[in-house]
Amino acid sequence: MAQLSRDDEAFGALMSVDEAAAKAATLVQPVAGTCRVALAESDGRVLAEAVAAGIDLPPFANSAVDGYAVRFADLAADGPTRLPLAGRVAAGMDAAGTHADGVAVRVFTGAPMPPGADTVFMQEDVVERDGLVNLPAGLKPGANARPAGEDIASGEPALPAGRRLRPQDVALLAALGFTDVAVRERPRVAIFSTGDELTEPGSPLGPAAIYDANRSLLRAMVARAGAEVVDLGILRDEPRELSRRLGEAAGACDLILTSGGVSTGEEDHVKAALAASGSLAFWRIGIKPGRPVAMGLVGSTPFVGLPGNPVAVFVTFAFVARPLIARLAGTQWRPPQALPVRLGFPYRKKEGRREYVRVSLEPGGDGVPVARKYERDGAGVLTSLTRTDGLVELAEPLTRIEAGALAPFYAYDGLTG
Ligand code: AMP
Ligand code: MG
Repeated sequence: MAQLSRDDEAFGALMSVDEAAAKAATLVQPVAGTCRVALAESDGRVLAEAVAAGIDLPPFANSAVDGYAVRFADLAADGPTRLPLAGRVAAGMDAAGTHADGVAVRVFTGAPMPPGADTVFMQEDVVERDGLVNLPAGLKPGANARPAGEDIASGEPALPAGRRLRPQDVALLAALGFTDVAVRERPRVAIFSTGDELTEPGSPLGPAAIYDANRSLLRAMVARAGAEVVDLGILRDEPRELSRRLGEAAGACDLILTSGGVSTGEEDHVKAALAASGSLAFWRIGIKPGRPVAMGLVGSTPFVGLPGNPVAVFVTFAFVARPLIARLAGTQWRPPQALPVRLGFPYRKKEGRREYVRVSLEPGGDGVPVARKYERDGAGVLTSLTRTDGLVELAEPLTRIEAGALAPFYAYDGLTG
């Protein structure tokens, strides 16, 4: 806790996004619990232990094409070869009754290689007539044959502990015959919205009320980040109520996320509630949209207070909260990959602040896409997120950026996975 109170001194200054993410990471430990889940439930889960192959993949040597299997040594060294056709093996058949000694065997993709065969001619390259096959010259030994264990051999590491399983990982596990895997428990992430103006969709809207958008945004983003959502509803702008509810949530989850109420306005009580029921690590990050982000502990439970405006919630969740959830989930944080794009607009910004601009991409003449800025760029304009393709990142040192400059672009898909 001492380390947290020292951070209090930094309240006046802006903390960089990278520094904030690194500090945030020190506040959390990966969840310890593990369980076994069926393969069908394993996509997106984090492997609790490394997995090794228990069988060769493929389990037996087989043909990669429809064609004719031969023994390479039976082929003429310097010209076409004519061999008698003997036998036929389709996928799923046992090749034990065949052999390739001095003959060509008709085979199909996935069929086991006949004993003695090591090379397969594609059917398109071969003429078969009167029980003989004409094999052209020039094929390399082993062509079009897949040896046992070519993909991965029994005993080899298949997937590392901490891997957040992707569809292709699940496919590998299935190919190796696994029915279930040991994964970490999902971190439980509590979500609150704060604000007296907020109304649950489905209820009538009062004269000064708006529907709560942030909880829907956060529920979806938290789930996509691999955590379990604990939806705790809307908190009124009432400091004691805020403190009490934060305290209650702390015991029941691994991370608390709130939105709204972290600015410096009189009605922004989250910071004060945190100071009363926990400790505040920092609360101003050099990021736009999104600057007021509170970070701290409630009891020993990490807390992140995101801003209120929905676009700011999206951006700060993507760049500040997601790395934290990855660490909680026990997987290595893999930063989203940026694509270079050409700016279709000039931009002025303050130094020392990282800005994210909502843009749509158009094809560029030189193959580099051109980014068009969305015209209504307020942090509360949700359609600026639904009508664009992603975010352009303008780094801290920049102040004047001219149209035509290159900048990194993050597609929304890479920010919500
Ligand atoms: P605040 O930081 O609480 O002052 O909120 C900043 C702006 O975001 C205000 O216009 C709020 O009405 C709006 N806002 C806060 N929370 C939400 C929410 N859950 N859904 C939609 N807008 C919100
Ligand atoms: Mg508010």
